[in-house]
Amino acid sequence: MDPNKYLRARVTGRRDLSEDLWTLRLALDAPFPFKPGQYATLAFEDAGGVHERAYSIASSPLESELEFFIELVPEGETTPTLHTLHAGDELWVRKSAKGLFTLDRKSGHHHHLFVATVTGVAPFMSMLRTWARDPSFAPPETRILLIEAASRDYEFPYVPELDELAGKLPGVKVVHAVSRSWECQGWQGECGRAEDILRKYADADGFTAGDTTAYVCGHPQMIENVKGMLKRGGFAKEAVHEEVYWIPAKAAPASA
Ligand SMILES: Cc1cc2nc3c(=O)[nH]c(=O)nc-3n(C[C@H](O)[C@H](O)[C@H](O)COP(=O)(O)OP(=O)(O)OC[C@H]3O[C@@H](n4cnc5c(N)ncnc54)[C@H](O)[C@@H]3O)c2cc1C
Repeated sequence: MDPNKYLRARVTGRRDLSEDLWTLRLALDAPFPFKPGQYATLAFEDAGGVHERAYSIASSPLESELEFFIELVPEGETTPTLHTLHAGDELWVRKSAKGLFTLDRKSGHHHHLFVATVTGVAPFMSMLRTWARDPSFAPPETRILLIEAASRDYEFPYVPELDELAGKLPGVKVVHAVSRSWECQGWQGECGRAEDILRKYADADGFTAGDTTAYVCGHPQMIENVKGMLKRGGFAKEAVHEEVYWIPAKAAPASA
């Protein structure tokens, strides 16, 4: 690996949520400045060459380590190797963080509507963790509504921490929704997809067009659906920010 392009990183911890979802913490051997919401490029080299992919940073820049929330793509080029990494293992990180999926400070909007599926919560964790540590991250009148959706409740890595953050940051409200509630014993949160509950909470809490910037991150179909709903709700294009993690493979054409 070219040390001019990459920093060496060491895995300091990992937490498995399921067979294909885990969080990973890394210590880097040099400073790694970034803005909450940005992504890092994780890399490794094997006989097939260098493999690298973008991952949103879930930790705050005010923490000493980087944290990621990753989903295994069994046939993928990169995640099967990332999935083998445990504390003490090494990998590489491109020297600079990238991305524009950061808190909107241009529009003057006071309301920020965060919508995430599964690993898409990572950039929002970075923003909330930063605000909790540094009150100057956002003006005091800022209000944030985070809607985090998944199929099952074990796909949420941060529920207790988000509850704590919402308790500490009076402008923050967090809603969790599962689409397969019948598989989540004792589930007390919302049932349905992000799209199903978006209007209920956004309208009730005043996260409406005009004074709201929306940020949508995660499953590409969810992003499309939410963008359509926000458009119909009067949101201007520039008031809707998206972070698309992958492009779904095109369905094979039907045979004649
Ligand atoms: C800005 C940005 C931030 C990202 N942040 C994260 C993050 O925080 N966590 C995270 O897990 N991923 C994130 N990704 C996706 C990540 O970069 C990889 O694309 C993903 O981990 C798959 O890598 P792979 O090499 O294993 O699979 P690839 O070889 O790249 O993909 C194989 C096939 O799987 C599809 N695919 C890729 N990802 C998924 C998925 N999750 N579910 C279903 N199909 C998929 C691809 O479209 C492709 O057809 C981000 C992507 C971008 C662009």
